Amino acid sequence: MYYSIAIDGPAGAGKSTIAKCLAQKLGWVYIDTGAMYRAVALCCLENDVDISNETKVTNQINNISINIAYINKEQHIFLNNKDVSTDIRNQEVSLAASKVAVFHSVREALVKLQQDLASKGNVIMDGRDIGTVVLPNATVKIFLTASSYERATRRYKEQLEKGIIQDFEEVLKEINHRDELDYKREISPLKKADDAYGVDTTGYSIEQIVEEILILCKKGENNSD
Ligand code: C5P
Repeated sequence: MYYSIAIDGPAGAGKSTIAKCLAQKLGWVYIDTGAMYRAVALCCLENDVDISNETKVTNQINNISINIAYINKEQHIFLNNKDVSTDIRNQEVSLAASKVAVFHSVREALVKLQQDLASKGNVIMDGRDIGTVVLPNATVKIFLTASSYERATRRYKEQLEKGIIQDFEEVLKEINHRDELDYKREISPLKKADDAYGVDTTGYSIEQIVEEILILCKKGENNSD
């Protein structure tokens, strides 16, 4: 049996930074599921597919290949055998990802891929529905939150470090808009699993949160013995 940590939460709550840090400390594989929704969105945008049209998006997802590979321990995502790991990280793709993520066909295909990856070893997986749908039997489930102002501030600084200057109000607006789409969608909405630990990251450092989660993991391992 393999161990798994499911980390869910809204955009900018620190999921990927924390998950990567945990993966490094534990020597487990980190799986970023948001990248998969982003790859579907990128594919639709590149092919001028109307992302509000479920039939057209379904047709697209039925005809593409999405694969994950690890290069120097970093997850890379391949869309039709092309590495799109950088291309998926922009605002247009972020919003489009939240829009295609409402469709059943998209979720069904990606959940299958995620479950398949998790069946091969110990994983830390982050997303919106990991604890509720993808890995309902995860060893430890974490639901990360932070105020939308704090999340927008982090995103703004992150982009600035990459040399990308954005309007802060725009970043905040985008975070709020994606929250609304993720929390309110009909299928697999962003939701804390009943057995998930809620961790509010506002005002805490990454190291502090990672330590807290590692303590929760120890408890989870003991409970599953
Ligand atoms: O985590 P990230 O911001 O990269 O995810 C992009 C979008 O993909 C999210 O806003 C969400 O709408 C969608 N998503 C999802 N379920 C997941 C992961 C991401 O619906 N497990």
